[in-house]
Amino acid sequence: MAQVGTRGLKKRFGKVRAVDGIDLTTREGEFLVLLGPSGCGKTTLLRMIAGLERPSGGEVLIDDRVVNELPPRARKIAMVFQNYALYPHMTVFKNIVFPLKAQKVAKDQWKQKVVTAASMFGIEELLHRKPRELSGGERQRVALARAMVREPSVFLFDEPLSNLDAKLRHSARFELKRFQEEIGITTIYVTHDQVEAMGLGDRIAVMSEGKVRQIGVPHEVYHEPADTFVATFMGSPPMNLIQRNEILVGFRPECFLPKEIYDVNHDLRSFQFRVWRVEHLGSDRLVYGSLDQEGEPQDEAVIAKVPGNVSVSIQKGQMYEFAVLAQDIKLFDRESGLRTEKTSF
Ligand code: ATP
Repeated sequence: MAQVGTRGLKKRFGKVRAVDGIDLTTREGEFLVLLGPSGCGKTTLLRMIAGLERPSGGEVLIDDRVVNELPPRARKIAMVFQNYALYPHMTVFKNIVFPLKAQKVAKDQWKQKVVTAASMFGIEELLHRKPRELSGGERQRVALARAMVREPSVFLFDEPLSNLDAKLRHSARFELKRFQEEIGITTIYVTHDQVEAMGLGDRIAVMSEGKVRQIGVPHEVYHEPADTFVATFMGSPPMNLIQRNEILVGFRPECFLPKEIYDVNHDLRSFQFRVWRVEHLGSDRLVYGSLDQEGEPQDEAVIAKVPGNVSVSIQKGQMYEFAVLAQDIKLFDRESGLRTEKTSF
C-alpha cells in the first residue's frame, strides 16, 4: 500500500493545458476516482503518475517522495488500460508471466507468483486458455492478475470497463471493487461515467479543463457541489439551476416534488410549476416544465423526478405547486459559479 500525491502538477501540449496545476493526495488503500468529461486531462494526469508522461511542471509523489525522475518500472505502479491489451497468441499463463520476464524475475519464482495472482482473481482454472476463449469479464480478470503479479503498491485504471456491455459492466464493477477492498491496494481510477464513479469511489475528484473542481466522498460531491460545473456534471438529469438576480438557485430533480407530499412542519420553498411534458420511466416520472415568477411564465427549463410510488396526478399543460426542502436548496454565485451561502433568495 502506498500514498500517491501530486503538487502543482502541470502538462502542456503546445498551447493546450491538459493538466493545469493539480494538487491531489490519496489515502493509503483508498479507491480514488478521477471523473470528468472527455478531454479534461484525466488520462494525462494518470500517465504522469505512472511515469509515462513527463510533467511540464510540479511534482509526483509516492509516499511523500518526489518520483519525477524515477522511471515507470521503479515506481511500483501497475496501470490497466481500457482495452486490457492482452497478447492474443499467448495463453493466460504466458500473459500473466510476461511482466515478470520483462523484470527479469528468476524463473523458478514465476509459477508460484502467477498462481498467486490468478487465484486472487479466481482464474486459476483458465491458465491454459487463450484470450479469445474467455468472456469479457474473465479477460478483465486476466488483465488485473497481470497487473498484480508485479506486486505493485498502486493500481491505476484508465476506463477499464468501457468496452464491456452494460450488464457485464455492472458485474465487473462489483468484482473490481470487491478485489480492491480485499487486497486493500491504493487505486486511482479514471472514468467519465458518474454512475461508475459514485459506485466505486471512496472519494471522487471531479475534473474539468485540467483542474480538479472538487474532491470529496460521493455523497458530498453529489449533494454539496462546490460549483455549477460539479452540480450539473453529477446527476442525471443534472441539478436544476434557476436565475434569481446575482444568484443561481440549485436543486436536484428528485428534491423537487408536489407540495402535498410533504409534512406540514417541513421547512419548504414552494414554486408554481408549469408542466410542459411528462415522461414515464417506470421507477420514476420525469416532469419537464418551468417556474412562474410573480405570476409570469419563465423560459428556464426545470425538471422534477417524481418517484413511481407518488400517485399524485401530473398532466401536461397544467400548473402545480411543487416544493423543495430548504436544506436541499444550493445557492451559487452567478458570475463565478461558486457555491455561496451568503444570500438567501
Ligand atoms: P478522454 O476521457 O476523452 O480520454 P481525458 O480527460 O483523459 O479525455 P486527456 O487524454 O488527458 O483527456 O487529454 C487532455 C487534453 O490534452 C485534450 O485536449 C487532448 O486533446 C490533449 N492531449 C492529450 N494528449 C496529447 C498529446 N500527446 N499531444 C497533444 N495534445 C494532447
